[in-house]
Amino acid sequence: MDDYFCKLKSDFPIFSKHPDLVYLDNAATTQKPFSVIEKLKNFYSETNANVHRAVYRLAEESTALYEEAREIVASFVGAKSGEVIFTRGTTESLNLLAYSLGLSKKYRAFVVPLFEHHSNFVPWQQVAHILGLKFYPVKIHASGFLLEDVVKTINRCEKPFVFSMTGLTNSLGYRTPFEEVTKLVHSAGGVFVLDGAQLIPHEPFNFKESGVDFLAFSGHKILGPTGIGVLVGKEDLLKQMIPFQYGGEMIDRVGERDTTFAPIPHRFEAGTPNVAGAVGLGEALKYLERIGIEKISKHIKNLTEEAVKELSDIPGLTLYRPENSHGIISFSHENIHPHDLAELLSRLSNVAIRSGHHCSQQQMKVLGVSSLCRASFYLYNTHSDVKKLADGIREALRWFS
Ligand code: PMP
Repeated sequence: MDDYFCKLKSDFPIFSKHPDLVYLDNAATTQKPFSVIEKLKNFYSETNANVHRAVYRLAEESTALYEEAREIVASFVGAKSGEVIFTRGTTESLNLLAYSLGLSKKYRAFVVPLFEHHSNFVPWQQVAHILGLKFYPVKIHASGFLLEDVVKTINRCEKPFVFSMTGLTNSLGYRTPFEEVTKLVHSAGGVFVLDGAQLIPHEPFNFKESGVDFLAFSGHKILGPTGIGVLVGKEDLLKQMIPFQYGGEMIDRVGERDTTFAPIPHRFEAGTPNVAGAVGLGEALKYLERIGIEKISKHIKNLTEEAVKELSDIPGLTLYRPENSHGIISFSHENIHPHDLAELLSRLSNVAIRSGHHCSQQQMKVLGVSSLCRASFYLYNTHSDVKKLADGIREALRWFS
């Protein structure tokens, strides 16, 4: 199996340019295969024109590619293409939702667990302040949360409410029981938003079958370009939502005093969209589909388990790993600051990991740390990368002492 994934490295030009690089910062962003880079190049060299406006051939071709990308995304996540909105990334998708659902005056409270990435915490907290809605953080512990704390919070919050939660935390790789939480939220009259920034690159997912009401994810974490993201929403809910941004592309008729808006999904895509980004994302999803998300998921599970074994043997190292976790290992050493360890790993061994609070300061607070090292895996990583990570940490510790 490792041979198969080893060969995949040659699909990614960054590894020819940096043959010794051990890239383990995939939770931050993933590398791009040739096919995605070619698609972007071809789009700009052969088809570039603005979409949805002009009737000349190039614009029609560009519009067709953009809408084809929407179809690819929809089929990848098991949604209807009219339910797929292109955004700049997960952050914009979640801000769009917080404002749009908040402005609809239908919801009285926002509920969010404390382990969320700041992108799925701050928008709900701040929009609640701005619009005078209630905001309820759900208590967490070192490796996740208890469903009874979810139930307690849901029971005491005003109804109807919005509950927003990740599928996989970026700080510890905790795979949340979002399916159960969705049911709890629905039975209490709430809507459920899934932050899929980490989950969608790692697990087969079907929007319709999942029951979630909204899904957000980013292109750049799933082999696609930066600056493109996705918000998927149930058609009936999207139709009730107020647009978050106003401008061209999203209108129907503009009068002196009032404006009517285009149907969904265009109503939520004000201004010239990131056409090339969407087209590149479509190509990235085609690449992943050729390999199969399930196969990728198994490979990453093996790598992560092996890394846990390797790192557990290093004296002084603490691993922060919830029982139900995937693709991410966070760790610290008793004698060396996470930033120093990450820097030494890069300098001495060309191993790229992340250090810091991982945009999840509340999770760090609960763990009693201010920062951690984080290694995160994706499909092009191999057993040899795991070995180099462990050897690199030993080397950094020798150097430091
Ligand atoms: N949610 C999670 C779980 C994430 O991991 C990230 C990115 N680290 C985001 C949201 C924000 O994604 P982006 O920066 O691409 O908007």
